[in-house]
Amino acid sequence: MKRAIFPGTFDPFTVGHYSIVMRGLTFFDEIIIGIGLNQAKKTLFSVEKRLDLITQAFKEEPRVKIASYNSLTVDFAKSVDADYILRGLRSVGDFEYERTVADANRKLTGIETVILFTEAEYSYISSTVARDLISYGKDISAFLPPNVKI
Ligand code: ADP
Repeated sequence: MKRAIFPGTFDPFTVGHYSIVMRGLTFFDEIIIGIGLNQAKKTLFSVEKRLDLITQAFKEEPRVKIASYNSLTVDFAKSVDADYILRGLRSVGDFEYERTVADANRKLTGIETVILFTEAEYSYISSTVARDLISYGKDISAFLPPNVKI
């Protein structure tokens, strides 16, 4: 069984994240979406709300599981018996960071990171822009996965 984790902050989970998971399911048997709580980042959405939005997105998809974690990402991967980390890449801005973390994780534990390029139509979608829109009272439904309501 090929199992991957898809770690992130997901503040909030967007259609860009959704697309990466759905594409990941074409070659992974199971994907565990891990909401990382250990970062010093202050989030707009509570962990309960973030879990709720992701649960809505995947309620018809039994091969996707959702959890939160408070440890190093590789330790979370080991704890759920996953050999892969799935990540998405939008731009060269994402590239250096993703490569450094992927290299460190592989050297430390042998866990491979699989990176998918974003679909062009989602390359402008980010949690940061979604939060900015919310702060100005704008609707973000176009940023959310299908069938997800804030
Ligand atoms: P983190 O704080 O770990 O970067 P995020 O929630 O911002 O967590 O993102 C999780 C993963 O999803 C990262 O690999 C990020 O590059 C990817 N991602 C975010 N938005 C998109 C998008 N629109 N298309 C593809 N991948 C994306």
